[in-house]
Amino acid sequence: MTEPTHEITPMAIDYLNVDSLFAAEELKVRERVRSFVDARIRPNINAWYEAARFPRELARELGELGVLGMHLRGYGCPGRSAVEYGLAMLELEAGDSGLRTFASVQGSLTMSAIHKFGSEAQKERWLPGMAKGELIGCFGLTEPDAGSDPSRIQTGARLEGNYWVLDGRKRWIGLASIADIAVIWARTEDGIRGFLVPTSAPGFTATVIEPKLGMRASIQCEITLKQVRVGRESLLPGVTGLKGPLACLNEARYGIMWGALGAARDSYEAALAYALRRHQFDRPIASFQLTQQKLVDMVLEIQKGLLVAVHTGRQKDAGTLRPEQISFGKLNNVRQAIAICREARTLLGGNGITLDYTPMRHANNLEAVRTYEGTDEVHTLIMGRAITQIPAFA
Ligand SMILES: Cc1cc2nc3c(=O)[nH]c(=O)nc-3n(C[C@H](O)[C@H](O)[C@H](O)COP(=O)(O)OP(=O)(O)OC[C@H]3O[C@@H](n4cnc5c(N)ncnc54)[C@H](O)[C@@H]3O)c2cc1C
Repeated sequence: MTEPTHEITPMAIDYLNVDSLFAAEELKVRERVRSFVDARIRPNINAWYEAARFPRELARELGELGVLGMHLRGYGCPGRSAVEYGLAMLELEAGDSGLRTFASVQGSLTMSAIHKFGSEAQKERWLPGMAKGELIGCFGLTEPDAGSDPSRIQTGARLEGNYWVLDGRKRWIGLASIADIAVIWARTEDGIRGFLVPTSAPGFTATVIEPKLGMRASIQCEITLKQVRVGRESLLPGVTGLKGPLACLNEARYGIMWGALGAARDSYEAALAYALRRHQFDRPIASFQLTQQKLVDMVLEIQKGLLVAVHTGRQKDAGTLRPEQISFGKLNNVRQAIAICREARTLLGGNGITLDYTPMRHANNLEAVRTYEGTDEVHTLIMGRAITQIPAFA
């Protein structure tokens, strides 16, 4: 390989000047998270990924950075806008989807469940410590036999005197083996309810799912609940039914719409830099028309995805965003991001299959991202229902 012969211009990075759509304060948040990723994630991610290790020690640092429960207000939460939250997720995922997933599970799923549906006492007890990254939470909805259709969950909770007793299994639950508290969604006589279950409760077991081929710097577990007894005050009082967990999933899906673009941008930048310095047939491979077409296609989709994200974020901040509009961004941006990462990998040739380059790691991570928080198919069905008014789920 020879030395770089061409510069990467600002236009190559932000072709349409999408940055002009952000306020100075929003760009400051982005810069802060980007610097953190450069200093703390990029130098270490290969080792974490290879060892399949989630760096637990980063939780407090991410708390200090202000990205845990970022868009929630009060109770020690940062109270930032939806757009700032999105920009932060994008930068984190440019480092690795696993780290963005941590922020999503902690903030968008678990903290938002407590924030939306918890009692004052529950909010005071858990949210400040979780915002600081001192306490870790997980969100247990999916089960071995209930994934895309969470209305089929079997985990049950029954009242026995002053206690709720929970029995069942959960699968794919992020962070469960290191969490202090689990939000467990369970079936009761009144319908699906949420419970705050300390992971130290007798009968609660979390077993890490491994080995995984993607999302390796991130923990997912199978949870078993065997006659787990929690006090009556463990019930989240604010919601009954599936709309509770679905409201939290919407928060996470919104963040993913932005996050996936971070993985895409990082892969594109890696491929562009490589294409400019790698010579074959006595020329930089960036000079070939076929290479330029690949790079142009990446830029088109990254920039379009960003416009979708900004517009969706502005609507969220205005309080006018509808859940089916989040499906547009999640479906489109993750689908395009995985295609970009894979295409970026081709430009790196053989070197692209090593951990020295980021695109294949990002692509492998995005296999999980396109599956969780609603698969491509589920978001297609949500959009199909919104367009036709006909549900086609079953
Ligand atoms: C890395 C990772 C982290 C996760 N973290 C969490 C977490 O923290 N908490 C949590 O509760 N869950 C979590 N999940 C679970 C995740 O939400 C589920 O994996 C997801 O909902 C899909 O469920 P499933 O894997 O059971 O697949 P299934 O629902 O079995 O789907 C299998 C395939 O069938 C398709 N399919 C299903 N129904 C239809 C239909 N009606 N029409 C067409 N196609 C259909 C799906 O799209 C998919 O392609 C996580 C998953 C992963 C991989």
